[in-house]
Amino acid sequence: MNSPASSVPSVSSVDPVDSVRPNVVTMEPYTPVFPFDVLAARLDRAPEDISKLDANENPYGPPPQVQEVLSTLRYTHIYPDPESRALRAALAEFTGVPADFLLAGAGADELIDLTMRLFLQPGEAIINCPPTFGMYAFDAEICGAQVITVPRRDDFSLDVEGIEAAVCRHRPKLIFLASPNNPDGGWLPDDDLERLLALPLVVVLDEAYVEFAGMQRSRVKMVPQRHNLIVLRSFSKWAGLAGLRVGYGAFPAGLMPHLWKIKQPYNVNVAASAAAIAVLQDPHYLEMHIARMVAERERLTRLLAEIPYLRPYPSQSAYVLCRVVGREARELKLALEQEGILIRYFDKPRLRDHIRISVGRPDQTDALIAVLRRL
Ligand SMILES: *Cc1c(COP(=O)(O)O)cnc(C)c1O
Repeated sequence: MNSPASSVPSVSSVDPVDSVRPNVVTMEPYTPVFPFDVLAARLDRAPEDISKLDANENPYGPPPQVQEVLSTLRYTHIYPDPESRALRAALAEFTGVPADFLLAGAGADELIDLTMRLFLQPGEAIINCPPTFGMYAFDAEICGAQVITVPRRDDFSLDVEGIEAAVCRHRPKLIFLASPNNPDGGWLPDDDLERLLALPLVVVLDEAYVEFAGMQRSRVKMVPQRHNLIVLRSFSKWAGLAGLRVGYGAFPAGLMPHLWKIKQPYNVNVAASAAAIAVLQDPHYLEMHIARMVAERERLTRLLAEIPYLRPYPSQSAYVLCRVVGREARELKLALEQEGILIRYFDKPRLRDHIRISVGRPDQTDALIAVLRRL
């Protein structure tokens, strides 16, 4: 019999890269987003001369009380409250959903990841309906889950029959949907949502942009009555806190104890929490900016429709998707970049002839339209 020592390979023959999980090895490499100032320097422009219309950030930033709260923050040397009690109490008042159903996170992104880790073992399935937000497929891949793709129809509405058939065939545990959807800005109708909730799976509804469709239309209040609905929301887009990373989710009561077990204890930092609470103390300032952005979205859509090579889709969100006809969408994006205007191009099926433009300030719309007319 061999001695145990002789069966252990020598240290030099072990390459740690061989130990990386196979589903990570086969993942596509991450494409980094260039920081704003780096891109400005590359384009030989000052950051304030760049029109950043590529990531749906709020062009007005957060309300002034956020700066005030951050500059007087006192307990940065103490770990934050693992249960985010003060923030969840403020969220309960804001959403009308009791705090027992609410979990705060480092952005909605963290809660997408946490939801996957709560449910998915390697090989188990989720349904994804592209074109949509990229993180659903991305996080599922990290879990080693199987991503069942049920593409949207030509108008970006859901193929509900296709989803029902896929549920019968693959028995997925979860479906992820954004409403309004990113990148088209379309709304998930009540009938579709009801049909999905009748299926044997958990429906994760991502409402990162619901404030731009009308805050009162959020489905977050349905969560306590439904056993299989999760609603995720964010402070990144409507509240201008993208850089601080804060979001929240409403989950069925039975899931909460398990979520508390698996979440990182200090996931929401003290600055993010204080800023979010400050925002919720006076939502009127933000309502004014949202109204301004909604009006600007309508004006932007009208002006884009007058550009001969663009076909904008009606949007209920903070961006407008356009089909580009008779020229290359990618080249259009690069030409705009040279003019200091950043927009989003997706090198993905169904979107290669599309661009997505975030709603900016009126002066940014005017500059964009002037360049588009000239190009
Ligand atoms: C921006 C975005 C998010 C991410 O929100 P964070 O709170 O910043 O993590 C989630 N879902 C969709 C559809 C988004 O566009």
